[in-house]
Amino acid sequence: MVVGDIATGTDVLVIGAGPAGYVAAIRAGQLDLDVTLVEKEAYGGTCLNHGCIPSKALITATNVAHEAAHAEEMGVHADPAVDLSGMVGWKDDVVNQLTSGVEKLCKANGVNLIEGEAHFADEHTARVSHGGEGQGSESIEFEHAVVATGSRPIEIPNFSYDDDPVLNSRQALALESIPESLVVVGAGYIGMELAGVFAKLGTDVTVVEMLEDVLPGYEDDLARPVKKRAEEFGVEFHFERTATKWYEHGDGIRVVTEPAGQAQAATDGGAQAREAEEEPLEIDAEKVLVAVGRTPVTETLDLENAGVETDERGFVPTDDRARTNVEHVFAIGDVAGEPMLAHTGSMEGQVAAEVIAGEPSAIDYQAMPAAVFTEPEIGTVGMTQQEAEEQGFETVTGKFPFRASGRALTTGHAEGFVRIVADADAGFVLGAQVVGPEASELIAELGLAIELGATLEDVAETVHAHPTLAESVMEAAENALGRAIHTLNR
Ligand SMILES: Cc1cc2nc3c(=O)[nH]c(=O)nc-3n(C[C@H](O)[C@H](O)[C@H](O)COP(=O)(O)OP(=O)(O)OC[C@H]3O[C@@H](n4cnc5c(N)ncnc54)[C@H](O)[C@@H]3O)c2cc1C
Repeated sequence: MVVGDIATGTDVLVIGAGPAGYVAAIRAGQLDLDVTLVEKEAYGGTCLNHGCIPSKALITATNVAHEAAHAEEMGVHADPAVDLSGMVGWKDDVVNQLTSGVEKLCKANGVNLIEGEAHFADEHTARVSHGGEGQGSESIEFEHAVVATGSRPIEIPNFSYDDDPVLNSRQALALESIPESLVVVGAGYIGMELAGVFAKLGTDVTVVEMLEDVLPGYEDDLARPVKKRAEEFGVEFHFERTATKWYEHGDGIRVVTEPAGQAQAATDGGAQAREAEEEPLEIDAEKVLVAVGRTPVTETLDLENAGVETDERGFVPTDDRARTNVEHVFAIGDVAGEPMLAHTGSMEGQVAAEVIAGEPSAIDYQAMPAAVFTEPEIGTVGMTQQEAEEQGFETVTGKFPFRASGRALTTGHAEGFVRIVADADAGFVLGAQVVGPEASELIAELGLAIELGATLEDVAETVHAHPTLAESVMEAAENALGRAIHTLNR
C-alpha cells in the first residue's frame, strides 16, 4: 500500500465487468457478500460492447436487408437501401440499453462499482488507477479476488491494428462506411460471421484460412453448408494459406498470402497438383480484417504479486471451482481459457461466487452449448458421435433434415438438419448438432435434455407444437429410435 493511502476492504473483489465478472459480482451480491467490481472501460465487457451483441445486431439488420432483396420466390419484390449509420446507430442503442442495464442490476444487488484499472499489489491487496489526469488511485484489500479480465484479439506479424486498413473485430464492428472490398484472415466463427455481414452489405469479401476448411473444430457436415451459402452470396475462399504482409496499392492495399505449411507440401509426393496453390497469392482490397483468435488479458495485472500462475499462453489455469493455484483467487471467463464464450464465463462466474459463499458448486461443461450465427446457423451441445465413441460409449444417432420440416419450408430456409447422439444402450442424450434455421435457439432444448439426463424416448414423446422448427428435434429423436414419421428411418 502507498504510504498515506487508506485502503477500502471488501469480501470479494471482481476485476473486469464482462459477462463473467458482472455475473460473478451480482451472484456474490445475492449471496450477501460484500462485493466490489472494478472495470476499466465499459460495463458488459467485450461481449456487450464489441462482440456478441453488436455482431448479432448487425447480422440481424443485414439479414433483414438481404432477405427482403431476395424474396422474389415468396412474391415479395423489394429493393432495400442500407444506411450504415442508421444501422450502426440502432446497434449502439441496443448496446447502450444492455450496458446500462448491467450497471443498474449490479447496483440493485449491492455491488460496489469502481471505474479504473486494477492490478495486484500483494496477495490481499489490489491497486486501482482511475486514469486521466489528477484521477489518482486507491487500494482495495480483499478476502477473495475474481480475475475476469477477458481477452483481446491476437495480432499477427506485419498486421498492426494501429494501421488504418488493418482491422480487428472490434474495429470492424465500428466502421462508419461499408468497405468496397475486404480480406478476412481466419475462417473461425468470428471471421465467418463478419464475412457474412459484409458480403450481405455488398462488400467484395475474400477469406484466407490457414487450415483446409471453414470453422475448424466443427464437424464437416456442419461447416459445409456454411461455406456453400457464403459462396452463394459472393464470398471467395483461399484455404491452406497464411497472410504474411500487406502493402499500399492504388487506392487500397494488396494482401500477400503464402501457402501454409510449405515444408509439409514440399515432402508431399503429389506436390505437382499443388504447384499452382504454392505460388504466392496477392489479393487487392480496401481493408483487411484479422480474426485469428484471442489472447488473455493478464499482462497488466501483476498476477505474480498475488502468487497466481499463468500457462505458457498467458491463460490462468483453474480447477472445477474456478480456483487458481492460490486458494482465495479465482479466474473466470476468457482469461481462464477455452471455451471462450460469454455463457461459459457467466456460468463460471456464478460458480466462483457460490464457492466463495461456501456453497458446494462446481463447473460442469457437459451440456455447454456453442452457437455460430452464420447463414445457416450452427448450434452444438455435448459430445459429437466421435467424441462419445472415444469416451467408450456405444452410440446411436438420429437425424432429421429441415427440408422435411413444414415450418422450415415456410421460412424459406430449409437447409441443414438436427442430429442427436445418444447412448445406444440406455438411450441417454449425449450430444446434438444442428445446422440450419434458428440452430442457436433449437440447441437449448437439447442442452436441457443432457442436463436432465433425458433419453431419446423422453425427447421423442414430448409433443412439439406444429408447425415449428422444434418438431425437428422430436423427429431426430424418433429417427434414432427407428420411428420418425416425416423422414425415412434407415
Ligand atoms: C466479434 C465477437 C463476437 C462474439 N460473439 C459471441 C457469441 O455470439 N456468443 C458467445 O458466447 N461469445 C461470443 N464472443 C466471445 C465473448 O465476447 C467472450 O467470450 C466474452 O466476452 C468473455 O467474457 P469475459 O467476461 O471473460 O471477458 P470480457 O467480456 O472481455 O470482459 C473483460 C472486462 O475486463 C476489463 N478489464 C480488463 N483488465 C482490467 C483491469 N486490469 N482492471 C479492470 N478491468 C479490466 C475489460 O475492460 C473488459 O470490460 C464474441 C467475441 C467477439 C470478439
